[in-house]
Amino acid sequence: MNSIEDTYEKIEDIVGPKYISNSKAICYSYSMNCDTVLQGIPDIVVRPQSPEEISEILKIANQDKVKVIPRGGGADLTGGAKPIGDGGIVLDLTRMDKILDIDLKNYIVTVEVGISWSELCEQLSHVGIGYYTGSTGPASGFSATVGGGLSNNSVGGGGAAMYGNVTEQCVGLEVVLPMGDIIYTGAKANSFCEKPFTRFGLGPDYSGLFLGDVGIHGIKTKASLQIYPIPEYAAYSTYQINSSEDMSEAVKGTNVMSEWQHRRLPLHDFYYYTKGYTSLLTMFKIKKNLVNARVEGSVLFYTAVADSQKELEINVEKIEKVASNYELRKLGDTVEEGNLGKWFYEENGRWQWAHIYWGLYGPEGTSLGTCLKCPTYQLPDYVKFYNDWTTRNTKKLWDIGGGGANFIAFGCNPTYIDVTGGLAIHSEPKNREIQYELWKDMIISQIKELGGIHYWMGEIIGRALVDSGALTSEYYNFMISIKKALDPNGIISPGKFYLGDEY
Ligand SMILES: Cc1cc2nc3c(=O)[nH]c(=O)nc-3n(C[C@H](O)[C@H](O)[C@H](O)COP(=O)(O)OP(=O)(O)OC[C@H]3O[C@@H](n4cnc5c(N)ncnc54)[C@H](O)[C@@H]3O)c2cc1C
Repeated sequence: MNSIEDTYEKIEDIVGPKYISNSKAICYSYSMNCDTVLQGIPDIVVRPQSPEEISEILKIANQDKVKVIPRGGGADLTGGAKPIGDGGIVLDLTRMDKILDIDLKNYIVTVEVGISWSELCEQLSHVGIGYYTGSTGPASGFSATVGGGLSNNSVGGGGAAMYGNVTEQCVGLEVVLPMGDIIYTGAKANSFCEKPFTRFGLGPDYSGLFLGDVGIHGIKTKASLQIYPIPEYAAYSTYQINSSEDMSEAVKGTNVMSEWQHRRLPLHDFYYYTKGYTSLLTMFKIKKNLVNARVEGSVLFYTAVADSQKELEINVEKIEKVASNYELRKLGDTVEEGNLGKWFYEENGRWQWAHIYWGLYGPEGTSLGTCLKCPTYQLPDYVKFYNDWTTRNTKKLWDIGGGGANFIAFGCNPTYIDVTGGLAIHSEPKNREIQYELWKDMIISQIKELGGIHYWMGEIIGRALVDSGALTSEYYNFMISIKKALDPNGIISPGKFYLGDEY
């Protein structure tokens, strides 16, 4: 086996000295993402520019048996884009950030995966009549990349109710496989096909192998996504759901959302803030508009779009009728009067709503974030679950800095997505360990007690999934077989899913 210095020199020959580093400061800065609990310091950080360079790097990594961890914007919250344990190469893909083709015959954009969602949508908005990607990435879309979003099966940065997860917009991928081969999935797998236009065909859905895989099956380098004209007309309203007790608020909110979903009303987005979450936002004056409107209790907002004023009015009438049946208090129309829907849609709140929450305690603090899917009807059970979990762990949480568990839920077609986060601060290393155990306990409990389905993983969730015993041995072995077939040397992101000792 070669030394890591040899590996460094060989990769330096490929990318040039400017785009590789083993300096302690650089490696340390790539050792943590937004979660400050989990840390793995790489030996080398590389910023390649092409799939060919990545292919060569992976071949060297296989020869030298060095692990490689792909990284986009590094906005992962669960130990994704960094090594598990120290060592290895972090492959920073943000130099590959160009739009390669905007195909207005098929309405498909092809990009290098290092572009951020906000940059992609900004550039698309200036093309022709103005376009966007429908589902516009995760709430971290100002920095999160298309590659990270597709790897994490992201959703949450707008358009979720209408377009679902970003993976649903994907019609094809260019991927560098762990051994260095480069393939294109979808229609472009036919080398005579000029432009990507459909995901299925030429056998099974091999794009799916790489969507939501948190990068363990290969390095995505290009992606083709459907695009849509920016709707000309939009409307938004925000409601307060107030009741003496959390559970009846949650039941009311759930009933409205279920009815909206079940009737397939043309909503672009809808979000539900639990009472706990709302009080956090108002207590810290994070959402001054909710403070202005003297909001207490839970909050529900929607955004709706249409191609004409008439269509919009008809849709809004149907949407609002459901809300009025449950006697929700509608807040004012302007953002200042509490209309979060308007802020979300018109002022890019879609890419800000989570920052203000996760950033509450500044760099010293961190959230025990877990994102999962649940059927809409189960939301009240989740409210109860997080209340009970917080009560059970209050002392431990306050010993390390404070906090509790709260969540925002948003409509996604057809499932319902639930974002949770228990906040806690750490400033001492021992607090990190306690926090990790609390985090793991929360994840395992929600998997076991509520059958929660996580839609992005990383170290903490991959581990909890295995440790909870949720996966049948047949399913687990199936995952290992696929990983082994693609990555026999276990080079890419080993340990991300706890697939045995090697993978
Ligand atoms: C404030 C905030 C809000 C967030 N809101 C949401 C949300 O609404 N919805 C949501 O889903 N997530 C959310 N996240 C989590 C995270 O930001 C997203 O999942 C996002 O899609 C990650 O993109 P990224 O480019 O930062 O990826 P990274 O963090 O760099 O990587 C994410 C994972 O993908 C892998 N990866 C990255 N690029 C590639 C590639 N090209 N090929 C193969 N594997 C790759 C990495 O190894 C890692 O496992 C949020 C995070 C923060 C901090």
